[in-house]
Parts: sequence; structure tokens; C-alpha cells
Amino acid sequence: MNADTVNVPAIWKSIAANTHIQFRLADFDTLGNPTTGIIHIPTAVTSFANSPSDHKINFATLGGANAWNRNHYLNIPICNLGTGILGYTQMPGVGTASKDGCVINYMAVGKTGATAPYNLGRTITHEVGHWLNLIHTWGDDYGYCYGTDYVADTPNEGNANYSNYPVSTVRTDSCSPNSPGFMWQNYMDYTDDAGMCLFTAGQVARMQATLAGPRDSILSSPAVWPAAVKQIDWTAAVSIYPSPSKGVINIRLQGMTGKTVIRGFDISGNQVLERTLENPDPVTGFDLSYLSEGVYFLEITSLNRRIVRKVVLIR
Ligand SMILES: [Zn+2]
Repeated sequence: MNADTVNVPAIWKSIAANTHIQFRLADFDTLGNPTTGIIHIPTAVTSFANSPSDHKINFATLGGANAWNRNHYLNIPICNLGTGILGYTQMPGVGTASKDGCVINYMAVGKTGATAPYNLGRTITHEVGHWLNLIHTWGDDYGYCYGTDYVADTPNEGNANYSNYPVSTVRTDSCSPNSPGFMWQNYMDYTDDAGMCLFTAGQVARMQATLAGPRDSILSSPAVWPAAVKQIDWTAAVSIYPSPSKGVINIRLQGMTGKTVIRGFDISGNQVLERTLENPDPVTGFDLSYLSEGVYFLEITSLNRRIVRKVVLIR
């Protein structure tokens, strides 16, 4: 499913592999309340860079946010880590639960607003590799050949690759002196985002072993809806009228169970509304006359359903 697979050079095509792993944003938080899986925490800490890997970001008392239960969630706190580090991750089977997850520098997240050459999302790909027990392809020996990533099909590599080349470039070093050389295009090297394009079959086996071992509880996490629920079309349960509206709208909710959260977004994705209804009446009125004319989207989430509907405001 990854579009970058077209970049895998011919020399590695036979060992590049599908991980068969997909992540989903959480539908429920640790209290069972509906969530988008993304939360924003205000902090007085301007930089978490003073002591990289100190995990201050994982503690509310130190200006960060407490990690959600690692047995059910992959936590990805995003913050300012300064200029020297893109991210860090606690490996499975070690460390404390409160520090588990992938800490990522905000400037290396996603594509929009991220800083080149770390603007193609590969920092999180690399860190999640660590979260699933992968080790750097150069074996962390920094220039020698004795280090290992405990994966048989990644070639021996002396040191991290920090730059980028046309993806078909064969690169050799003293640990892999002959073609096809070392695998600088691997997600577990330090190559710029644009050059990273594969995990190997051996790495996939190691990640799958982690999901069958120390991280197996994530597979039965209660944080997401069962897949079967997602497949049902619930859109008939909600009607919004009138639309277009001059300001006041009515939302009819049928079959929404328990606490229901209504969030409104403008067409740029900016959130303009959030209301929580503990036990929603069948029809709830909202005065949106404070919003300017235009198209808005309402996301309505309850314990059993999530629905998005469009609303048009006119003056
Ligand atoms: Zn790493």
C-alpha cells in the first residue's frame, strides 16, 4: 500500500517485503470516551531538547503528557526536540511502561510544515521500526563490521548513511565491499526521507515476532472499533436541518449510545466547535451564527458510531 515501493531498486526487490502491519488512530481513550486519537496538550516547556531521551515529554508533571496504556496504544508524543535529534523510541521488552512509545520532533512529522529533508514522514516509520524491535542496519557499531541488527538479509554496513543518492545507486564500504553493497535505502538507516523505501523480509519477521511476543496485546486493543462495526453504513442515524442555514441548526441523533461528542471544522480543517452531550436528546439545537458564511463539517462521535456531515451556513 506504500507508494514508495516503486522506488525499491532492482537489486533489493527480491527481499523487500510487505509488513502486513497497519495502524489505526484510536477511537476510544483510556477512559472509553470517543477520541480522534490526537490530543493537544498546552505546555510551558519551550523545548524538550536539553536532555535527549530523558522522556520528560512522557510526564505531565514535567510539562509533557502521560502515556496511554502501552498494552493498548502506540503513543507518539510530538514536541520540540531542538535541532539535533529527530526522534527516539523505547524498544519492546525493556524499560518502563510510562516511557513507552515514539517521541518525535515536530519538524520531522508529516509533509505539511515539516523541514526538508525530513518532510516525507519517514522519521515515524523508522521509530516505529524500533518500537517493533528493529535495530539500525549498521548494527550501531559506528564504523566497524562486528555490529549486527540480528536480521540475516540486511547486508553488513559499517556506519550510518546520512545523505541521499538516486535510489538505484550501489554503495559499498569495507563491510560490504562488493555489489550490491549495503542497503542505504532501508527505513532503519539514517538516509534522508526521499531515499528510504523498504523493509526486508527478515525485518518483517522480526516485527511480526514482536507482535506475537512482547507487544501482542496491541492486537486485541479495546481502543478501536471492531472492524465489523466500521463496515456498517450508519449515516441514516443523523440528520441536520435546515441546510443551508442562517445560523441555528438542529441535529437529530438516532441510535447514538451514551456520551456523544460533536466537533465542527471549517473547510481548511480548523476546529470551530466542540460540544459534549452526556445523553443526547433526539433533537439538539446549535446556534452557529457566530461562524461566517461557508461550508462546515460536523464530526459526531459516540461510543458506537462516528459520522461526518456537511453543513452550509448562509447570511
Ligand atoms: Zn533509530
